Amino acid sequence: MMKWMHYLDYTTSEFGGRIDPEWNDDLLERGLRCPDGCGGIPTEFEGEPVALRFVKKPTGMLEGAPRAEAVHKDLWKLISPHLVGAIVGTCEIVKRDSSIIKLEDFVSVYVPVIDRVFLRGRKKYAVCKHCGSVKCVDIDTTMYLIRDELAQRRAVMSTRRGILVDDAIRDRIAAEKFRSVGFYKYEVLDEPLDGRPRSLDDWPQLVKWRQPKKKRQ
Ligand SMILES: [Zn+2]
Repeated sequence: MMKWMHYLDYTTSEFGGRIDPEWNDDLLERGLRCPDGCGGIPTEFEGEPVALRFVKKPTGMLEGAPRAEAVHKDLWKLISPHLVGAIVGTCEIVKRDSSIIKLEDFVSVYVPVIDRVFLRGRKKYAVCKHCGSVKCVDIDTTMYLIRDELAQRRAVMSTRRGILVDDAIRDRIAAEKFRSVGFYKYEVLDEPLDGRPRSLDDWPQLVKWRQPKKKRQ
């Protein structure tokens, strides 16, 4: 039987929230986020909860931000019992008078790269030199997950960011009819289609990232 995992997606093009550009610039300056497309947390800072700073509150249930995802507490309630290794922090908003208040409806969530799953392709990959996360850069490839890597977890975070859940959690989320949560499904395969080792731990170009972290656990 085919197995699927469902990526929680935005169904609207207007994301709603807006991160504080000054805060983002400050993160970049201080090396607290990976530059370029990754936007994740450089390895040395993994493990600490993060506070995401917005200038406009997210209108949907989830939103990508530098370092972590903002997730609405009603949605997080359904995912949190299953997302192994998640590090949960806060979200805040800068008001017009420059004061900063906590956004009570939202949490910030990320999973250390070593515990994330990898959406694989058939050929080309890029490795972030700040956090070691791998992403597929194939054009027009249907990506997939590997069963061993999923290790029976019901909710996971992808190395490309974003959260994936199994059929049952997907159905529970869908039943809530949350605003702006859609699903995009990825098949779970037994073997990779790219001719590379099944485990990322055995990829020569990732040794630097995987070995010290494995020991750390
Ligand atoms: Zn990175």
